[in-house]
Amino acid sequence: MSKVYVDLDCTLNNAHERIREVYDKEIYEERFVAGRTLLDLPLPGAKDAVKRLAELYDDVIVFTARFWKNAVVDTQMWLQLHTFPVMGIITTDSVDDKLKWLKEDPPDLLIDDLSREWETKPPWTSLYDDAIHQIERMPFPFIRFKGDWADAMRRVESLEDNLR
Ligand SMILES: [Mg+2]
Repeated sequence: MSKVYVDLDCTLNNAHERIREVYDKEIYEERFVAGRTLLDLPLPGAKDAVKRLAELYDDVIVFTARFWKNAVVDTQMWLQLHTFPVMGIITTDSVDDKLKWLKEDPPDLLIDDLSREWETKPPWTSLYDDAIHQIERMPFPFIRFKGDWADAMRRVESLEDNLR
C-alpha cells in the first residue's frame, strides 16, 4: 500500500489569509474556531492535485499540525465541504511531532509547505528550516509546496517517471 501525506494549512488551503485577518483585527481567540477554519478556501489547483495523487497512490492522507480541540472534526468538515478525495487525517501537535511521526510511519511521498509566521510575512517565505533540513534526510521523497500546485504536480509526475 502506497501513501502520500499532504499538509493542509497553506498547502491545500489559504489559512494564511485567516491568520493574517485575525491578527490584524486582534481577534486571536478566533484563529482556530471551526466557523473560521471552514471559511478557508482551497488553493487553486489543490483539488485536482489531490485527485491525481489519489490515482498515483493508494492512500492520500492529510497530515497537519492542528492541535486544538475538535481539529479532526473541523478538518473533516472542510475536506467534505470541498469534496477532497482523501482517505484519512493525521493531526499532530507541532512540527516536531510531525518529524516524530514521519520517522515512525514514513510515507512514500510528503508534500508540505512547512512555512510559518503567516501573520506577518507573505506565505511560503518564512520556513521551518530545521525541520526541512531533517526531512530532506529522511528516506522518502519530499516536495516542499511553494504556493503553486502546477509546479508541485510537475515535481510529483517526475518522481513517478523516475519510478518506471
Ligand atoms: Mg502548512
